[in-house]
Amino acid sequence: MTAPHHTPDLFALSEITGPVLRPGDPAYADEVTGFNLASLHTPEIAIGATGPDDIVTALRWAHATHTPVAVQATGHGANFPIEQGLLINTSRMTDVHIDPITRTATVAAGAKWSHVLAATTPHGLAGLCGTSTDAGVTGYILGGGLPVLGRAYGYAADLVRSFQVVTPDGHLRETDPQHEPELFWALRGGKGNVGVVTSLVTELLPLPRLYGGAIHCHAEHTETLLRTWTDWTRTVPDEMCSMFSVLRLPPIPQIPEPLRGGFWARVAIAWPGDPAEGEALIAPLRAAAPVAVDLAGELPYADLDSIHMEPQDPLPARECCMLLRDLDADALDTFLEQVGPGAGADHPLLVASLRHMGGALSRPSAVEDAVCSRDAGYFMESVGIMPAPPVAEAVEQATRRLYGAMAPYGTGRTMVNIHGTPGDEQDRARAWTPEVYARLRHDKSVYDPDNLLRFGHTV
Ligand SMILES: Cc1cc2nc3c(=O)[nH]c(=O)nc-3n(C[C@H](O)[C@H](O)[C@H](O)COP(=O)(O)OP(=O)(O)OC[C@H]3O[C@@H](n4cnc5c(N)ncnc54)[C@H](O)[C@@H]3O)c2cc1C
Repeated sequence: MTAPHHTPDLFALSEITGPVLRPGDPAYADEVTGFNLASLHTPEIAIGATGPDDIVTALRWAHATHTPVAVQATGHGANFPIEQGLLINTSRMTDVHIDPITRTATVAAGAKWSHVLAATTPHGLAGLCGTSTDAGVTGYILGGGLPVLGRAYGYAADLVRSFQVVTPDGHLRETDPQHEPELFWALRGGKGNVGVVTSLVTELLPLPRLYGGAIHCHAEHTETLLRTWTDWTRTVPDEMCSMFSVLRLPPIPQIPEPLRGGFWARVAIAWPGDPAEGEALIAPLRAAAPVAVDLAGELPYADLDSIHMEPQDPLPARECCMLLRDLDADALDTFLEQVGPGAGADHPLLVASLRHMGGALSRPSAVEDAVCSRDAGYFMESVGIMPAPPVAEAVEQATRRLYGAMAPYGTGRTMVNIHGTPGDEQDRARAWTPEVYARLRHDKSVYDPDNLLRFGHTV
């Protein structure tokens, strides 16, 4: 007898307002393709949800037919192929409602940070975005949400007031610290393990402007800039947020001159305080080595993307990350050996970065959540672009070498949002402490006993 999920009853799915597509349908490829082109999704059914009702219908049907369910908004986190079951695409659900009195935003499941910023900016308010405002708010927050201004304000998940979520039994639930608090806990840092979020309410900050941007030195100054930056991070106030990167940029039109095609050492900074103070604070970085391209200055919060200059167009990417306890001399030597100029201008990683953690990122959330990276001093992350198999193999090897070499300095854990390709259970569990992982597994057994939400970074 054929398994139930191989004989789906399309009758109930006909209640869905958005498109319901199967392989071979003309719009299917567009519906399933996201930002990260490294993973080709081929689900049996793709649904373009237009609102919470579509998600309820999809999950009721999936529950009745034992069909596994995946969710995608932008595909920034598409690090694994979805090759069966039902994919819910939330990208049409982009409504954002701002309440300037309570300083909150109600954000629909498919909204990107750019949608939120467009709505908050007229009020002089801001949400805690990551390095790319093209990423989805919900996916980012479910994974904790490590913001550009994290040392100043903590994790984006810490600012969530409530979620509306459909659990795998097809029930639409409202959850906040008073209502289903365990579900509320698991959604803030536990990723998409216990339900499909339809909207969330997050606090906003009065942040019209900030001081920030990146200074770039030619690669020959990598070691000097890295050592100066590391020493400097031990002296700066909590509100000073920064990231050191080694960048090997391809000569493509999407990258502006004069950075295009260059091999750079970069420090990107973000400071929400007085601009003159920010300028004075970064003086030691500017003095460390000849600065070839200096893009730091005062800017509107709405221009946050200009700080890290993340790619805006879809590409096939292999990302990876590791939380580090500290950066001692050995750790710096190892990082330089792996990705510094000595590793060659043609090293296959596009970017290898060290983010300064601590500050508000080390303080507990006012309402406990499942974020597990509060004990890290620094955070290493990398991206390689994999256009064709030989390059993909070189990126994979370089990624493994870097993380293997840096392992002695790590906390043993990752951040689920930037973990990259989810491996076996032991690998996926590295995104949480053993206690939080056990609690998430318990919550999943309560809310998703049939393991319908079984794709990607599951517990
Ligand atoms: C260029 C770039 C920069 C980034 N910078 C940062 C950063 O600074 N800080 C940071 O923390 N992360 C960062 N990330 C990682 C990013 O937060 C994750 O990829 C996140 O998953 C993006 O969410 P999405 O909805 O855009 O992605 P999608 O690929 O659409 O979704 C990713 C996953 O999120 C879950 N999900 C999404 N929507 C729902 C929903 N409605 N209900 C339940 N589960 C859902 C699912 O598990 C899904 O597989 C970055 C990623 C990129 C590509």
